[in-house]
Amino acid sequence: MFNGDLTTIQPVELLEALKSFPFLSSYQLTFCCDQELGLGNYRSGPTICGSAELNPLCAKFCRETTEGAIQQALSENRPVVFRCHAGLLNFAVPLRIGELPFSCLIGSGVREREIDLAHVESLAGGESIDALSLLERIEGLPVVSHDEVTEAANKALELLPALLEKNLHSIVFEKTMQRISAITGVTAGIDDAGTICDVMSITSETLGILFDISRIAVLIADQTGASYRMEGVWGLPAALGTVPAAKVMTLFPRNSTASVVTLADELQALFPEIGAAKATCIRFSAAGRLLGMLVLFDSNLTPRDELLVQLVADRASAKLLQLQETERHARELAQATKLMTIFSALSHTDGKEALNDRILAMAADLVEASSGSLMFIDDNGGTLKIQSALGMNLRLAQSMVVQVGAGIAGKVAANGNPLLVNDIEKDKRVGIPNRPRFKTKSFVSIPLKLRDNIIGVLNLSDKKNQGIFTEADLKLLITFTDHASIMIERALSIERADLLEQLSITDPLTGLYNRRFLKKRMEEELARSIRQNLSLTVILIDLDNFKIYNDLCGHLAGDRALKRLAKILSDSARQMDVVTRYGGEEFCIILPGTSKKESIFVAERIRREIEHEEFPYEENLPQGRLTASVGVASYPDDGTSDTVLLKAADVALYRAKAEGRNRVVIAGSNDTQPATHLKTVGAPN
Ligand code: GH3
Ligand code: MG
Ligand code: MG
Repeated sequence: MFNGDLTTIQPVELLEALKSFPFLSSYQLTFCCDQELGLGNYRSGPTICGSAELNPLCAKFCRETTEGAIQQALSENRPVVFRCHAGLLNFAVPLRIGELPFSCLIGSGVREREIDLAHVESLAGGESIDALSLLERIEGLPVVSHDEVTEAANKALELLPALLEKNLHSIVFEKTMQRISAITGVTAGIDDAGTICDVMSITSETLGILFDISRIAVLIADQTGASYRMEGVWGLPAALGTVPAAKVMTLFPRNSTASVVTLADELQALFPEIGAAKATCIRFSAAGRLLGMLVLFDSNLTPRDELLVQLVADRASAKLLQLQETERHARELAQATKLMTIFSALSHTDGKEALNDRILAMAADLVEASSGSLMFIDDNGGTLKIQSALGMNLRLAQSMVVQVGAGIAGKVAANGNPLLVNDIEKDKRVGIPNRPRFKTKSFVSIPLKLRDNIIGVLNLSDKKNQGIFTEADLKLLITFTDHASIMIERALSIERADLLEQLSITDPLTGLYNRRFLKKRMEEELARSIRQNLSLTVILIDLDNFKIYNDLCGHLAGDRALKRLAKILSDSARQMDVVTRYGGEEFCIILPGTSKKESIFVAERIRREIEHEEFPYEENLPQGRLTASVGVASYPDDGTSDTVLLKAADVALYRAKAEGRNRVVIAGSNDTQPATHLKTVGAPN
């Protein structure tokens, strides 16, 4: 008996069995040995009389009184009823029974109807205790008369041998069966629970009630597994802080799944806020992982009880794992959805700058960073420059140039490895004092890679609420930057294509559109004019005797003159007009929506402006001025296709040349617009 294995009956069970008899139900029962008091205390707590609430009185005085009573009961071999220091009634029943390791049963924690107020007051006074609250506590005890105590003691004396011989096993068996049946019912509830919180409250309530445990806490591993969140679930405040994983691990020996009983010192180190003499720690583990643990404070469990508790805990663990997995999936799904939305928004972002800003803002949003920067390696590969900044002035940020290989971002750019730092000052890879512009010491730096090329670095810092970036944040950001890099590449290639396109349609000397572009625009504008029934005019301008100008003044002066001319033409054109360099010293302007009549004035104004513009050395030209001849043709009068229209304008221009230059000739008309003033300088008509 009492050797601690699963099939034997434990002292606490014998006490429980005794308690189940109505005549003993009011008492707190304790077994005592000859030498050692308090062994197998049925009620947890440090006192003998069982009125733990009467501490420190009991602790101080009861031992002596109880020891005296035990001695008397043993020597006289009969039950002794005695009064303890607080004036309460107790009994001591001698146990001279076979193999029992106890010599005495103490019944306590009851009072007589009358309370001696003066005694209570003197008790309180002597110990500086609040008399009223002491009285309240005494009043709360069950009322039993002296005779009843004597009777109960005598009955207990008779009952014990019989109980030990026959009944005890069946009582204990019945109790165990009741518990198993209750647990069976409860496990269904655990399986049906919808949240981790529900699982914990069903579990703790079950254990609290079935095994008479007054305080239960659970520890649940956080997402990273670095620490365990501790919560009171039964008789304790809800939030109890966190415990580092390393501390929790030390509790459980490797390769053992058994529960662990922890004693005061170890408990004090683990859970300093919870004063407890001992606790049973039961792990929540599933799929080879320690998900958390259950801590039953001041519990008095038999090996059989522990097995039952483990049964409940295992069921709770399985559910816990399932709920955590479901939660994880939901989180991942939400994250994937968020990423999809982000990528879709990114793909609709036009322009490199806007894209950079958006990438940075979205990355920050993903991991709740409140500042950060997006840096790109310049074309020569030597330096990093900030292209987008969050939480700092962009101008200022852009002035900071980081050498690839130097500093945090520079190193990330050089070696291509992402960096997650919890504490910038303590991390050996960094180990630099935190700079004042950062509020917190945790940050992430992630290389932006295009295939195997590193093109830049994404830096994020100052996680909201003083948080620390996690491995999960890093993983998320790596996925994000993989996609963002592709978007960046796309923006770059669009930009490059735009530039090429721009180059292919632009004349490098004047910056005007070239003939290729003119052709395309002519087709488009003409089609639109036909559709909308609008006129369109083309004006061809050719410098007069430009070969001579070049010969006289040099090619460079010729180039400068062409640039000047381009400016005159651009300035005189409206927003919708298209000014192009048609050939060497020939220019063409498309005037959409302009009739032939209206365009005469435009053409003449242009001719006049060229004539009046002072070009260097133009006095050496035959006419003394650098002038231009102009040919004008319009849709629909002179043609309905671009080639026919341009041809008509060219014919008109040829006529202008033939008729003496420095004049405007309108296609299909016999009139020319002579440059009348030229007569003054002797130009032929
Ligand atoms: P016309 O009055 O009959 O038009 O006589 P022109 O000398 O202007 O005509 P021609 O077609 O004989 O000569 C055109 C000249 O324009 C030839 C070339 O030297 C000059 N030219 C063409 N393109 C450029 C250029 O890009 N830069 C310079 N400086 N000169 C150019
Ligand atoms: Mg020419
Ligand atoms: Mg010419």
